[in-house]
Amino acid sequence: MSGWQKALISTIFLAAMLAFGYRQTQAPGMDAGSELDYPALIRHVEVIAAKPHPIGSLANRRVRDYIVGYFESLGLETQVQKTTVVYRHPHRTGSGTIIGQVENIIARLPGRSQNVVEAASDLVVMAHYDSVPSGPGAADDASGVASVMEAARILSNAPPPVHDVVFLITDGEEAGLLGAQGFFRQHPAAKNVGLVLNFEARGSHGASFMFETSAGNAWLVDRLIASTPGLLASSLSYEIYRRMTNDTDLSISKGEGFSGLNFAFFAGLSDYHAMTDSVENLDKNTLAQQANYVLETTRHFASLDHWQRAHDDLTYFNLWRGGLVSYGQGLAAASGAGVLLLGLWLFAAALRRGRIGPGSVLTGFLAVLSVFLFVWSLFENLLVYLRSADAGMIRIVSLGEWPLLAWFVTTLGLTLWLSNRFRKGLSKADVFLPPLVLVGLILLAGRTSALAFVVPVLLIPLMMILRSRSMRPDLWTASLVIWWLLTALVLLLAPNASYLFVWPLAAVLLGIAIQRRLPDGASRFLAGLIACSVALLLLPPVYILAYLALGFAQPQILMVICSLSLLLVWPLTRSIGSLADGKVALSLLGAGILMSAVVVFGRGFDTRHPRPEELFYAIDVDRQEGFWGSQDARPGSWLGEFMGAGSRKANTGQILPGYDRQIHIRDGDLPAYTPASLTVENERVGEGVREIHLHLSAANAGAYVNLLFAGDAGIETASVNGFPVAVPERNRDRAMGSQAPDSGSWWRWRWYGLPDAGADIMLTLPLGSPLKVRVVEIDDKLPDAAPPRPANSIRRPYSWSDSTVMFQTVVLE
Ligand SMILES: [Zn+2]
Repeated sequence: MSGWQKALISTIFLAAMLAFGYRQTQAPGMDAGSELDYPALIRHVEVIAAKPHPIGSLANRRVRDYIVGYFESLGLETQVQKTTVVYRHPHRTGSGTIIGQVENIIARLPGRSQNVVEAASDLVVMAHYDSVPSGPGAADDASGVASVMEAARILSNAPPPVHDVVFLITDGEEAGLLGAQGFFRQHPAAKNVGLVLNFEARGSHGASFMFETSAGNAWLVDRLIASTPGLLASSLSYEIYRRMTNDTDLSISKGEGFSGLNFAFFAGLSDYHAMTDSVENLDKNTLAQQANYVLETTRHFASLDHWQRAHDDLTYFNLWRGGLVSYGQGLAAASGAGVLLLGLWLFAAALRRGRIGPGSVLTGFLAVLSVFLFVWSLFENLLVYLRSADAGMIRIVSLGEWPLLAWFVTTLGLTLWLSNRFRKGLSKADVFLPPLVLVGLILLAGRTSALAFVVPVLLIPLMMILRSRSMRPDLWTASLVIWWLLTALVLLLAPNASYLFVWPLAAVLLGIAIQRRLPDGASRFLAGLIACSVALLLLPPVYILAYLALGFAQPQILMVICSLSLLLVWPLTRSIGSLADGKVALSLLGAGILMSAVVVFGRGFDTRHPRPEELFYAIDVDRQEGFWGSQDARPGSWLGEFMGAGSRKANTGQILPGYDRQIHIRDGDLPAYTPASLTVENERVGEGVREIHLHLSAANAGAYVNLLFAGDAGIETASVNGFPVAVPERNRDRAMGSQAPDSGSWWRWRWYGLPDAGADIMLTLPLGSPLKVRVVEIDDKLPDAAPPRPANSIRRPYSWSDSTVMFQTVVLE
């Protein structure tokens, strides 16, 4: 076989495996034979996600009524649980206090064993109906709610299952998992719960995955795989997810000790919590897949006689859709130990036979290190540039998977070209050109820190050593050793994620053992390709998903891992890299850079990819003044033109103490408004303390209210509507007189879904001290005088955008 033939076959194989991997991350098409009524699913999403419907808003109440009406029309016993929830995370402690008035929807499908008193036998099928204020929430989580509604229709028309099924549609998830806390901690039915299935979204398309389980998942996962053909799941995602700070309602049920499974899709992150999370942008195939998961898992678990709880966790992953492999901890440990031993044995044998030498492996490490440093620095500088450029990160995120492809091709070209140069011997230009390119990039990115220059400066001596050595660097063995070490590390730290390292390494090592026995020629080349196929089957979907789910922030790390993976499958990439003395690799690098330039500079904002911009209106109730404000007034944009030259700099701290961000403000005419009111209802004095009964009310439905109590007020106990609120340590210390008063600090409460009748607050304080409270109400609309937004601009998520912020200081003597 000629070099060109080998390279062509390798390229086609690599591209095909990448395309196959990409397909695994996409939702399959709808199943024409399914019982699911797809048009009905879409209609539910249309109604629920017609507009933003955060907790407490009028739109939220309409959605609630729609869902309740639907469950009742199915003949299900349906109730709305209305309660006050004081946020408490199962294991994290936050600085502020979150309080919400939630309205959970609970519909029950009775099972056959309903008259048998059996504890912990209810199956809870959960999704949340509230959205964020900044988006209609078609994916997050109308997709989940619609899927649960459709499954409820099908199951209520079928013979009753064994277990009761509780369709729990929670409220206030976005405000802090409030509805789930209301149900699992307060509702009497919570004690009957045996198993929880939760359905979520963090994007607008892509395949849905079962990404999280409760601890001891062996039995659950085993049954789950049996329940749903074509299921996508991976024990790696759970290992990653549990190390992140993200939460869903399942965090609460798990925290209360309930078993559970969590499903979500997450491609299209730019639509997450944005106005573009609309029914038009929700992938209908994704919706269909989510609904199928709800139906199949609910039907399966509800019909099992007994649920079990295992002590151990399974390793599970898809080789391809439908090809789900699972095994227990014993096999995970044995396969890991086996591949590590095989590696050691092959390494020792190769050393003994003189196929590899200590010198060439050592220079191989230096060469691999140089490749990694170059790749890392390249993408790190790109990131610095994107962060400083006008909406650079937003643009990149809105392009979905395309930047990943551009960056991968760049990394591919760079890795192949550099490794070929290292093996062939470096020229003087090779030594100095790469560091110079990096210096140019650092200057282009506009950074001034000396730290950025460490990598290019470090590269020069490294490259000079590699140029001077007569020992040809063995990059492949060095990469195999690195992969071997990573395998050992992951086996130790997260055994259920180790499959991702164990099987690719095992296949490559077995390939080496077999290749040695084959004659040099076509059969040897093909054996090499087959040895690489496990890595190419397992790794690409994981890298694509990692990029989509969490990698935008750290592409430089992902690209170093890609580079290492390309060196791992060296039998495949060698033939491409060495072709035409590295010129093919160089052309790949050029193509990658061109593609990167297109994704970085190529597109502005349009209706599908609008620019998030923040504009809010603030009213200083004490001074009777109003002004427009924004954190991101950019000249040239719609917002920049509106704010104009007349804007001046200010700080959000003057509105919400402790919230320190720079803003631009511009004077505006004061509209008619009704601020929130905080009044003393009652006061009682006894035993050195006074007890104050306060009443908080707001005229605007959907507003959320920040209450900030002066840190030196010395509040000893607090409760809302009869529910206790934990007083932070520092406030208690102050109450006991052990610390100097810190007049600058405030204890912040965030109150969501304040009922029309208001809420009652009880506080106990030391005698004599006046109580200073800052009341900051965020009402989810702008005054009529607001400028109309163009179609390529949307309100910015996680901000005060499109709200009126009314702030006042109330002193209660
Ligand atoms: Zn959600």
